Amino acid sequence: MNPIAYRDRALFCDNVALADIAADAGTPTYVYSAQAILENYRSYEAAFGAQPHTVCYAVKANGTLAILKLLAQAGAGFDIVSGGELYRVLQAGGDPKKIVFSGVGKTAPEIDAALTAGIFVFNCESEPELALIDALAHRHGIQARVAMRVNPDVDAATHAYISTGRLAHKFGVDIADAEAIYDRACQHENLRFEGVSCHIGSQLMNPEPVMEAVDRVLNLIDRLRSKGFDIRHADLGGGLGVAYKPEESTPDISSFIAQMCARLKDRGLHAMIEPGRSIVGPAGVLLTRVLYRKTTGDKNFVIVDAAMNDLIRPALYSAYHEILPVRETNGQRSIVDVVGPVCETGDFLAKDRELAEVMPGDMLAICTAGAYGFVQSSNYNARPRAAEVLVEENSWRVIRKRETNEDLVRGEVE
Ligand SMILES: *Cc1c(COP(=O)(O)O)cnc(C)c1O
Repeated sequence: MNPIAYRDRALFCDNVALADIAADAGTPTYVYSAQAILENYRSYEAAFGAQPHTVCYAVKANGTLAILKLLAQAGAGFDIVSGGELYRVLQAGGDPKKIVFSGVGKTAPEIDAALTAGIFVFNCESEPELALIDALAHRHGIQARVAMRVNPDVDAATHAYISTGRLAHKFGVDIADAEAIYDRACQHENLRFEGVSCHIGSQLMNPEPVMEAVDRVLNLIDRLRSKGFDIRHADLGGGLGVAYKPEESTPDISSFIAQMCARLKDRGLHAMIEPGRSIVGPAGVLLTRVLYRKTTGDKNFVIVDAAMNDLIRPALYSAYHEILPVRETNGQRSIVDVVGPVCETGDFLAKDRELAEVMPGDMLAICTAGAYGFVQSSNYNARPRAAEVLVEENSWRVIRKRETNEDLVRGEVE
């Protein structure tokens, strides 16, 4: 269910009018539907049925404490990529025994913190990383559970910046080398090789490459098991896409997971997945206010108070985000660029977009902004970062205060 819909021409997030939030919390503000986040998470949970599994929410999509807490209380595990994300998950009450730690550049202090917390598994991306985890686990007097992240060399057919599963990418180890790596790594006495992991990319609209990767990973697991490795889990990554345009159809979570489960059947494997975008993306909007309109040459600009520092996806990935007026009108529509105040030509939220005639003071909702929105925001142009609001049924609350000018200079020395 799309949490964002018009009622009597006013745009709502669940049962709350976005105009009310904007009036109170100001703009720009991210607004998330708790119900939509939980529904998306639960559709993963439900789809696994009897297959043993853990859904590890990918924190990098949106790591705000209230959202992590919501998912932790619903029973989610977490996929983290830094010591900072580990800290966030623990602050939010996440269960360390359901944390998987991914990433190509884990530092010694990050690994130490994860060992201290007692996370479930390290998804390792190189042999030197295995050696470091082994040495640190030795110092802790424990055995660390590890899974190699293998690169199955399939083309995820997504944006170049978020495709990760080809040999030319920095992620994982070549699946063809994996067996030899597991063999060599047996010498590490403080490691327990219990899994294999992969993640081929993000905003995947087609399940085919993922299933191809799953087949290759399961094939590797068969070979490792026949050599005596006690492989207990397969981590099949995240990456399911969401609809940024209303007419786009996305792979359905249930059928996606059903296809995975069919392959996992009767193998005695615990399945892990790491979805981020598909849980929080459609659950959030960025609310912004129109500041000015202007025309230069044959271009019409709508200048708003949100910018590329608040939502970088259009500038970084040429991403499309649907933009809806918070008050719907019958008025005429025109073709405009929606741009922010940042001093960069790349600072746009929409290009050549047909939009209802909006005037200064009107509010706009930039849709499907719950994932890779706030987390990628910055203070560029000395702009305080936006506030975040969580809608829970009929009420809403600020889950992150808007930054102030004092926040901008915190920690600096003249
Ligand atoms: C980014 C990432 C994810 C989540 O991807 P989504 O497209 O947000 O579902 C999962 N696992 C790893 C290792 C990642 O880097």
